[in-house]
Amino acid sequence: MNINNVLKEYFGYDSFRRGQEELIQGVIDGNDVLGIMPTSGGKSLCYQIPSLVTKGTTLVISPLISLMKDQVDALTEVGISATYINSTLTSLQLNERLQNIKEDKYELIYIAPERLNHQGFINLIKNIDIPFIAIDESHCISKWGHDFRPSYREIPKFISNLETRPVIGAYTATATEEIIEDIKDLLNLQEPKEVITGFDRENLFFKVENNIDKRSFILNYIKKRNDESGIIYCSTRKEVESLGSFLNDKRYHASIYHGGMNKEDREKAQHSFIYDESPIMVATNAFGMGIDKSNVRYVIHYNIPQSMEAYYQEAGRAGRDGEDSECILLFSPQDVVKQKFLIGESHVNPERASIAYKNLQYLVDYCYSHDCLRGKILEYFGEVDVIDKCDNCSNCTIERELKDVTIEAQKILSCVYRMNEKFGTTVVAQVLNGSKNKKVLNFNLDNLSTYGLMDNYTEKDIKNIIAMLISQGYLSLTESKFPVVRLTPTSKKVLKGNEKVYMAVDIFKENTSSSDNYYKDLFEELKSLRRNLALEKNIPPYVIFPDTSLKEMASILP
Ligand code: ADP
Ligand code: MG
Repeated sequence: MNINNVLKEYFGYDSFRRGQEELIQGVIDGNDVLGIMPTSGGKSLCYQIPSLVTKGTTLVISPLISLMKDQVDALTEVGISATYINSTLTSLQLNERLQNIKEDKYELIYIAPERLNHQGFINLIKNIDIPFIAIDESHCISKWGHDFRPSYREIPKFISNLETRPVIGAYTATATEEIIEDIKDLLNLQEPKEVITGFDRENLFFKVENNIDKRSFILNYIKKRNDESGIIYCSTRKEVESLGSFLNDKRYHASIYHGGMNKEDREKAQHSFIYDESPIMVATNAFGMGIDKSNVRYVIHYNIPQSMEAYYQEAGRAGRDGEDSECILLFSPQDVVKQKFLIGESHVNPERASIAYKNLQYLVDYCYSHDCLRGKILEYFGEVDVIDKCDNCSNCTIERELKDVTIEAQKILSCVYRMNEKFGTTVVAQVLNGSKNKKVLNFNLDNLSTYGLMDNYTEKDIKNIIAMLISQGYLSLTESKFPVVRLTPTSKKVLKGNEKVYMAVDIFKENTSSSDNYYKDLFEELKSLRRNLALEKNIPPYVIFPDTSLKEMASILP
């Protein structure tokens, strides 16, 4: 059957989406393929259709247990024989399925990667014809990404044990260079036909909210949204629980989901969200990969995630049905400190940690940017000819009042210059604001003509301007846990008065908590983060980070 007919007859669609036809045809022609399409771009069809038009059985490797069941149910319904093998099966079910495989009864077999190298399965599979293996969510093979699964590393071994090498198709929504290289290398793809479709999700409205009271924002927002479905992502389990109970206390029906809950509770939460019993899901990033709920109308990030890649994937769970939906990131500098703490804690390898800091910094820059947010996103994913103005993000549609901060910028840049580009944001801000902090007073202040030059600003204001200067490329940060501020080639233009600098007033506006409390609160939060991490890892808290380093983090960053 021709692939257009398969599309219509089995799946009921009239036309292919971008990239689908090429990827399908590639497999049919016997080439390896690498399909990079955004979330909900329609990757599943790219391996399901070839499996129907080629002889033999297609193996689909997927880490997503709930998705396997959904897809197999959907395929079965339209008369395609498919099954899945994963840890949810009873041994009776498993044996029955294995017997069917032996009798070559399936066109498609979905399998979890950790099941591949079981001897029983290997023996069985030897007897049937497998011309094509699809590896869904193939970025899971790379340690660079945020979804690394060690079991994905076992895939090549499995493939090399097969009598004839099948065609291999790898599919992902992740497009960073390192990860794509890893996928091609580690899966040993042979001259793959690469299809990268555009990354834009036109129906998504992107917005950043700065300096707001997050809880009242959320209350107002969900009130406006009535019973529409939405996900609120938080960075920690504790935050999920506290926001979840806050919303429930306010009589909103919100489910919660995080990795610390038992399986039963997680399934219950997922079920009631998917079936619209509770419209709101408050969750950590443990919730979502492969969630195919089409009518999610908004995704709010209560805390900044660790990278643009993670952000876009999570935000991309909104509007899978193509209807207008919103993706809102609630930005606060404290969250950046917390993320840096978590990065420092999870990466022992300094090289990886420095990439992680850089990835986070891109997202911080996104939050401070006045430019088109969609443009910033697409630029990150390497799209060329990115438009300047999309008219569908908060920076393009909401008039933001800009303040001319050229003079302030000049003062900051010259302070960085005079301090020999050796200090972090906090020290620079403290020197400028004339802080009586001991560390600052210990400097040779006579030589520091910039000391107190901005004493009409609070330290936090100055830090805010510095963060904006970094996001606009007038300053840069070294990539380390305690980054140092450096000048850039464009700093000179500002110093010489050849370029004006503007800052959005809503970012500039002073936060309510006073400076002292700010650090104290942050220190307490880091302590509790550390306690929770220690609990999860079952080790004494002080092993992770001593109090002194936490204090340093809280006072130095961002
Ligand atoms: P991905 O895996 O890329 O995130 P899916 O394969 O889950 O995306 O597809 C997302 C949605 O798009 C599904 O509901 C699917 O049925 C639908 N879809 C896929 N291809 C087409 C098409 N050619 N026309 C219309 N809808 C499609
Ligand atoms: Mg998918």
